[in-house]
Amino acid sequence: MPVKNRFAELHDDITAWRRDLHENPEILFETHRTSGIVADKLRAFGCDEVVEGIGRTGVVGVIKGKSTDSGKVVGLRADMDALPINEQTGLDYASKTPDAMHACGHDGHTAMLLGAAQYLAETRNFDGTVVVIFQPAEEGGGGGREMCEDGMMDRWGIQEVYGMHNWPGMPTGSFGIRPGSFFAATDQFDITFEGRGGHAAKPHETIDTTVMSAQAVLALQTITARNADPVEQIVVSVTSFETSSKAFNVIPQKVQIKGTVRTMSSDMRSLAEKRINEICAGIAATFGGTADVTYHRGYPVMVNHEEQTEFAADVARSISGDCVEAPLVMGGEDFAFMLEERPGAYILVGNGDTAAVHHPEYNFNDEAIPAGCSWWAGIVEQRMPAA
Ligand SMILES: [Zn+2]
Ligand SMILES: [Zn+2]
Repeated sequence: MPVKNRFAELHDDITAWRRDLHENPEILFETHRTSGIVADKLRAFGCDEVVEGIGRTGVVGVIKGKSTDSGKVVGLRADMDALPINEQTGLDYASKTPDAMHACGHDGHTAMLLGAAQYLAETRNFDGTVVVIFQPAEEGGGGGREMCEDGMMDRWGIQEVYGMHNWPGMPTGSFGIRPGSFFAATDQFDITFEGRGGHAAKPHETIDTTVMSAQAVLALQTITARNADPVEQIVVSVTSFETSSKAFNVIPQKVQIKGTVRTMSSDMRSLAEKRINEICAGIAATFGGTADVTYHRGYPVMVNHEEQTEFAADVARSISGDCVEAPLVMGGEDFAFMLEERPGAYILVGNGDTAAVHHPEYNFNDEAIPAGCSWWAGIVEQRMPAA
């Protein structure tokens, strides 16, 4: 099955939707116009159910097959939000909003899943139910997590979920995927050491937080060097060190250090959190001070499930003839929350030779639309074949 003919027919329409979204980008949960357009189109396509306001501005559409005897329910997810970047593409449909831009191609993702929804609602050539999921706030806001917290998976009985992202540098319309850990967990830590400030010439009367914190910075490096299995990927970086004193003759009362942790497994992530707490508490106690540690868990590791990954790659091969093994990505991805709730897979579709995502000259490649839409349709028709 190469690209489906219907998507060649719909290509101009889908491109026009994509460019309209591109011209009108919305950030985080503020996707009011976008969500409205998505919901209107899903209703116009004849979806059996369209619900807005899941995960604040998320939209869910339901499409039943010619039969639903299989009892299968598959979720397909796209993201809708833009980034706070000032666009520099010079396109005639460039963003009309300063400091807002579809620099990650979520305009393309939304348009492709809409195209697939139109096709699936027209043809219904499957035995089961499709749930199309349009989420806000992928770029750091956790919109996917909020949709899950609103009970989306149980409410629609979703059994498996699939996601897709365009990928600059891969040939247009080609596919890449990998099983297991794929995108990194991205966490932050914020530690305040407190001692007893005082005169720099009378250190014996103080509890010196500078010395305490300096020991901690070095000791934190041993999480990677001595605690983690060397074959694992883990980064612990201290990126900020600030004392409460601006003077050269004052020992500061407090020192605040900040940094980031990147991991590819939940074991490494838990190890980092546990050891940061233990090391800081231990060092503070050694010197007679205290450590207040805040460890903020951002997006979890995004883990592709084996069986669904194999299936997703098979569908990709049936469209493009090939599906390469994608590299590990140290960036985060909100779809990780959905893959924690249900088995599924996330695939990359080639965006050709364009600027990288999050670059002010990036643009989604409309030539990838037929392949992307065909993959969505293939996931449905091959996973839930018509009786
Ligand atoms: Zn992005
Ligand atoms: Zn993105």
